[in-house]
Amino acid sequence: MTPVTTTPAAPAHILIVEDEPKMAALVMDYLRAAGHRAEWRHDGRDAVPYVREHQPDLVLLDLMLPGRDGLEVCRELRTFSDVPVVMLTARVEEADRLAGLECGADDYICKTPFSPREIVARIKAILRRSRIAVPVAAPLAAPVAGAGTASAAPPGPVLRVDVESYRAYFQGALLDLTPVEFRLLRTLASAPGHVFSRDVLLTRLHHDHRAVTDRAVDSHVKNLRRKLAQIDPVCDPIRAVYGVGFRLDL
Ligand code: CA
Repeated sequence: MTPVTTTPAAPAHILIVEDEPKMAALVMDYLRAAGHRAEWRHDGRDAVPYVREHQPDLVLLDLMLPGRDGLEVCRELRTFSDVPVVMLTARVEEADRLAGLECGADDYICKTPFSPREIVARIKAILRRSRIAVPVAAPLAAPVAGAGTASAAPPGPVLRVDVESYRAYFQGALLDLTPVEFRLLRTLASAPGHVFSRDVLLTRLHHDHRAVTDRAVDSHVKNLRRKLAQIDPVCDPIRAVYGVGFRLDL
């Protein structure tokens, strides 16, 4: 196998939590060859402190770890961070089982057969998704200009969601959002015009959505709209679609 030689446009800082040194070394080689910065921790207990301190762009997290298992680590990460998490599992059955659990991971990769190439490709896709989901400056549609006034139309409202700093700006003003509200806005902004059902939103907002109800989504949406309205009472870009869910309108 030869390491991937294509360099992604945006190198990322990736944490690998894996107790098998050979596996970790091999994955790190591939990630570095792909232009990323990779750091390795072998003990599950080191993952959360590392993420808090260094805020990596992505965490590659083994399921079976000394100290603390990957599921538990992932759940704790989700209480304070939206960092993309890719779980590594030793067996296909584990990956299947994991996919049914709401631990908040973004993807699952089985280590057998082991393909560092696939790991690098999946990481690249997830990074692209998480970065595209929140363009650095995503302008919302300008108000429709009347006849003959197109060139004089005022600039449209602007929403900016910055995943790396976990901050969102509306009309240039920083929004004071809870982590759940941030995830809600980020999700809606990932596909403007698309209607997200309450069920889908629930899975994006909470690591364990069984503990909350659909009504929780409405309550978070209400709070988010209120915060947007505090900055611009006219724009109101979030629309409720009766019986379906919510969308962010462009
Ligand atoms: Ca392991």
